[in-house]
Amino acid sequence: MTILRVALDIPLPRLFDYSSDDALPEDIGRCVRVPFGNREKIGVIVALVATSEQAPDKLKLAGEILRGLPSLPSDWLALTEFCSCYYQRPLGEVMAMALPPHLRRGKLPRRKAQSVAEGKKRGAASVELGGEGGYPLPILPKLLPEQARAVTEIAASFGRYAAFLLHGITGSGKTEVYLRLIEQTLAQGRQALMLVPEIALTPQLEGRVATRFPNARVVSAHSGMAEAARARGFVDALEGQVDIVLGTRLSVFTPLSRLGLIVVDEEHDASFKQQEGLRYSARDVAVWRAHQCGVPIVLGSATPSLETFHQARQDGGRYRLLELSRRAVAAAPPVVRCIDTRREKLQDGMSAALLAAIAIRLERGEQSLIFLNRRGYAPVLACPACGWISRCRRCAANLVVHLADRRLRCHLCGIEESIPKSCPGCGNLDIHPFGRGTQRLEENFAARFPAARLLRVDRDSASTPAKWQAILEIIHGGRADILIGTQMLAKGHDFPLLTLVGVVGADAALFAADFRAPERLFSQLLQVGGRSGRAALPGEVLIQTEYPAHPLYQALLTHDYARFAATQLDERRAAGFPPFTFQALLRAEAKHLEAAITFLKMAAELARTLLPEGVSIYDPVPMRLYRVMALERAQLLAESTNRPALQVFLTTWAEQLYKLKTPHDLRWHLDVDPLEF
Ligand code: ADP
Ligand code: ZN
Ligand code: ZN
Repeated sequence: MTILRVALDIPLPRLFDYSSDDALPEDIGRCVRVPFGNREKIGVIVALVATSEQAPDKLKLAGEILRGLPSLPSDWLALTEFCSCYYQRPLGEVMAMALPPHLRRGKLPRRKAQSVAEGKKRGAASVELGGEGGYPLPILPKLLPEQARAVTEIAASFGRYAAFLLHGITGSGKTEVYLRLIEQTLAQGRQALMLVPEIALTPQLEGRVATRFPNARVVSAHSGMAEAARARGFVDALEGQVDIVLGTRLSVFTPLSRLGLIVVDEEHDASFKQQEGLRYSARDVAVWRAHQCGVPIVLGSATPSLETFHQARQDGGRYRLLELSRRAVAAAPPVVRCIDTRREKLQDGMSAALLAAIAIRLERGEQSLIFLNRRGYAPVLACPACGWISRCRRCAANLVVHLADRRLRCHLCGIEESIPKSCPGCGNLDIHPFGRGTQRLEENFAARFPAARLLRVDRDSASTPAKWQAILEIIHGGRADILIGTQMLAKGHDFPLLTLVGVVGADAALFAADFRAPERLFSQLLQVGGRSGRAALPGEVLIQTEYPAHPLYQALLTHDYARFAATQLDERRAAGFPPFTFQALLRAEAKHLEAAITFLKMAAELARTLLPEGVSIYDPVPMRLYRVMALERAQLLAESTNRPALQVFLTTWAEQLYKLKTPHDLRWHLDVDPLEF
């Protein structure tokens, strides 16, 4: 008899032992059915052991070992183990998240309808990269000197760990650099893993990769895919039948036994951090994985996260900095100007200068984009007589007015109701939407420019991939004159007719409570500005602001990321914020805030008995959004300038926290390296 040590998707930081009569060493890394309580569960065998802490007669017999697939390789087990330790989450939960749902339910994906011969041919051809087949090879552009240097330097690190920050503005040819490196990786018979932030962007990149590597076996992985397809891709990878994996954050967990290169595009993007369950940063996990596998990793961005930039800028920093300082296709960067709105009476929130600039584009048949990062008609409905405002019953947030379908909607929990005819507080009939969202802006423009073709682009109008695709086609086909859009439009898209970007309502982020707000704003504005003037036509960016002298806007005028980053890093250093400290949050939520705070106070006391030198613990505080979906939330910050010290503390602390008796309705979690406060 053998004892199986099994990781189960249970919120307890332990593994579970079962006996087995037929387990073999190669079953480590296979799924197994086991009895748990009065149910059956599927877990992953992480070890075969000789003895268990459990009495032999108490040990239950494991069920079927699922041998239809190869075992998950040991480096995959080590990767999930690392995530479990670093992010303080039970291993079974980490594995359940990292596996496609099909596999964790013990379901094998069906084979693709493909003959063995064809499979073999494709397999062999991928190594030869096109070979002699009928697929003509694409003609590649000659690399610019900076691109060539980047490729040479990174390629010199093939076969060992090295981390690079490829910093280059939009259009500077970063993707071209990735593609050249992937080409070399495949030529060596190795695999490439490329992480991208948004599902919305993957089809575009998929197309480019497919054109460049017509014979390579490319697997996409993102949460928007059908479960069967995702499982299929994972299994193909597990069986070694894959050359390139292209996907969002979860694809960092794809098993790749011949991994040769990792690329993280738009490495600063917040979507690499998962905000529930295992709160991991796919970028950071990717760096760990590159180190584990001894391969180079390229982090690319026009506006690197300050964490990454700091590592690359320091002497002896952990990342090597490679710069692409000019656009690959000759085009001047857009001219950026601030419009000082303090001196002017605005018309529907628009300055005369911005309206005039739009009118010129209409005359010339060019496109304008007005960037307002707030969807809906207006952020709130209010009664001027009694002061009533539309609040969500379940969240510490206002209900947003959506006039298009006459609803009030909470953007946090999704609850909605119809717009009342009179004030629910005092019966006043004269209640108004206050402020301005994309829908209202659209309405204003329709009145002002009746002949213009308007297109609103936000999560409401682009609610499905098909709608999003249709919107992109309208823009590319030149069938819209004025685009009104949120950050959805900021990324990755190249609109040849777009020559004007107007930015409105951005000032709030300058003074937000979240210390990362300026970093996000700068990145957004630089990206959205980069949409203009990508082709033959020069671009212009007009920012409406009451703070034209603000250093953030000043750095934007000259497209000077380095200058912006330097001032931000100085501020962060002075304030003791990341990247100069490392943080972890303990969050608790319950029906009543009091219960959450009480738990956190207990946790804080416990922490103080364990606290090593150099780690500090703050007092529990309600979260800024202290109520979401009828749960009230509070948090407690732990901080240190020494990451290993913080890690050691978190591990012992978490062990103790799991032992605390908590009220039935209370949930808690740790968020290591949190992005949101
Ligand atoms: P980024 O990823 O930095 O936004 P891309 O790699 O997408 O930049 O390049 C922008 C555009 O310039 C693309 O159309 C690409 O094909 C083209 N391009 C990239 N490098 C070169 C080059 N060396 N010569 C000519 N065109 C290039
Ligand atoms: Zn009222
Ligand atoms: Zn709500």
